[in-house]
Amino acid sequence: MPLVKSVLPPDLELKRRTIAKRHNQLVILLACGTFALLFVVAIFVPHGRTHHNSALLCLLGVISCEAYGIYRIFQYDYSLCRRWGYVCHSCHTPLFGRTSPWLKGICPKCEESLF
Ligand SMILES: [Zn+2]
Repeated sequence: MPLVKSVLPPDLELKRRTIAKRHNQLVILLACGTFALLFVVAIFVPHGRTHHNSALLCLLGVISCEAYGIYRIFQYDYSLCRRWGYVCHSCHTPLFGRTSPWLKGICPKCEESLF
């Protein structure tokens, strides 16, 4: 049971929950992938005083992969919003990931009502 009740109509709320569920699944998958890469770096990359540059480069690679994964997740969220119609009917801005349009019922970009 949600702690805060959404003000959106049931069809928009269902779309929001479905997109949020997929978003959370992808975030968990990305976190698992990141931890797996960090584990590989910690085990297989030589470290110590003479090899600290290679370990640092591998860590920068892992961080870059994580940042790109986050970027791709948000792009996928926006594509789901457009595909399923979870967008503002006035300015067509994807509503997922924005500042809680489900709490106020207004578009965060153009401030039109979502009803
Ligand atoms: Zn709008």
